[in-house]
Amino acid sequence: KSRQIADNINTVLKEKGMEDQVEVVLTGCFGFCEKGPIVKIMPENTFYVEVKPEDAGRIVEEDLIKGDKIETLLYRDPKTGTRIHEGENMEFYKKQMRIALRNCGLINPENIEEYLGNRGYMALGKCLNEMNPQSVIDEMKLSGLRGRGGGGFPTGLKWQFAANNSADQKYVVCNADEGDPGAFMDRSILEGDPHSVIEAMAICGYSTGASKGLVYIRAEYPLAINRLKKAMDDAREYGLLGKNILGSGFDFDIEIKYGAGAFVCGEETALIHSMEGERGEPTSKPPFPAESGYWGKPTNVNNVETFANIPEIILNGGEWFKSIGTEKSSGTKVFALAGKINNVGLVEVPMGTTLREVIFEIGGGISNGKKFKAVQTGGPSGGCLTERDLDTPIDFDSLLAKGSMMGSGGMIVMDEDNCMVAVSKFYLEFTVEESCGKCTPCRIGNTRLYEILDKITKGNGTLEDLELLKELSETIKDTSLCGLGQTAPNPILSTLDQFWDEYVAHVVDKR
Ligand code: SF4
Repeated sequence: KSRQIADNINTVLKEKGMEDQVEVVLTGCFGFCEKGPIVKIMPENTFYVEVKPEDAGRIVEEDLIKGDKIETLLYRDPKTGTRIHEGENMEFYKKQMRIALRNCGLINPENIEEYLGNRGYMALGKCLNEMNPQSVIDEMKLSGLRGRGGGGFPTGLKWQFAANNSADQKYVVCNADEGDPGAFMDRSILEGDPHSVIEAMAICGYSTGASKGLVYIRAEYPLAINRLKKAMDDAREYGLLGKNILGSGFDFDIEIKYGAGAFVCGEETALIHSMEGERGEPTSKPPFPAESGYWGKPTNVNNVETFANIPEIILNGGEWFKSIGTEKSSGTKVFALAGKINNVGLVEVPMGTTLREVIFEIGGGISNGKKFKAVQTGGPSGGCLTERDLDTPIDFDSLLAKGSMMGSGGMIVMDEDNCMVAVSKFYLEFTVEESCGKCTPCRIGNTRLYEILDKITKGNGTLEDLELLKELSETIKDTSLCGLGQTAPNPILSTLDQFWDEYVAHVVDKR
């Protein structure tokens, strides 16, 4: 639809002889999915929502020629009813802070000059010209950046481990195998700002001593792949990727590896096996990839969002990044806000923002005037949080303390009509499907959990089944080999804890 709108605007501009005066640029995602497609008129900064291809003529005639705002295409504040003409003034954007998403919806991701014009590759230039590899790592450590893929491991420390291991070849891997149901943060970054990831991977290569980068991306992301490929070609042409980058003597190039969309391949060792052409199965650590990763060589793996933060950290300094967010979780986090919420979309907020602010201010509250019931953070590995947790600041440790987790950023909101037993069954079904089957607790245990939940939801469960659910969940958590199995029972444990009555009602009333 967006392409059609752009084509139609271009056609009308041509008819009016204005094609040299106005440039139509296709950008990445603005984040406000609920109100898309969005057309932004610059430099006035007018923000039109829910635009249709047939609106092209009015946009050219009324806005671009007469200079009038098209009232019906402006966003209407649901509380006051007033029309808002600048995106920045909408509740959806007011509390957001865009670092990883800074260029999404702003630049044409297929034009390297737009990235260059927005401080692009300046961080790489700064590293190569003014910093030695260790000082780059020190800056990363200072920033307090923690891995955004779900693990939350300190990025600077990870880079230090890879740097400390000497080898004739080292690798930098970008994990773009986004697998949480409902999550699309990484895809949006690659579609909207691929150069930020390329630049960050080169910075990581410089500081860890790696000359090769690999992006492991699911093949179902064709637009992200095409934009990434185009960005890599352009970066090579501009001397920003390949041999002797910016005349510094530093060589670094990137290759794309395709994943088939297995959730377990988000785990570092499984991802590396998959890139080597083996089954995507995790192996126990140590050795960690920093010591023995891709083809047995030191390898640093970070996810897309983690990389997207790095150029800004280098340009503004680790102290700057550390000053945003909370003491132990600095910076911002991108969330894919979905479910029973008014403003479905992609949001980036400083760590420490509360769930209430995200759901009721940015997210605009629960759709259809229903009552909030729970929010699942961390996807299938996370847990459900309820009304009493709404003032929890969002950071790695606070969510863990509440029995959930940050995960990669999926945030699914549920209303009073959602059955929480059905919700945990949904997540279990996903993990059973995605388990690689290597270890018994996860392969067999999660299947048994699913069978029990199925029995309960069909009205055949007993109170003993609820006890069994709990006991088996704890055992699976303690004995599974990798994170997938260790976290798979989380949705059950958290719903048992918070919605015990609902489970009991299923087995007592046989509903
Ligand atoms: Fe595979 Fe599950 Fe064991 Fe992980 S926990 S290795 S996904 S079977």
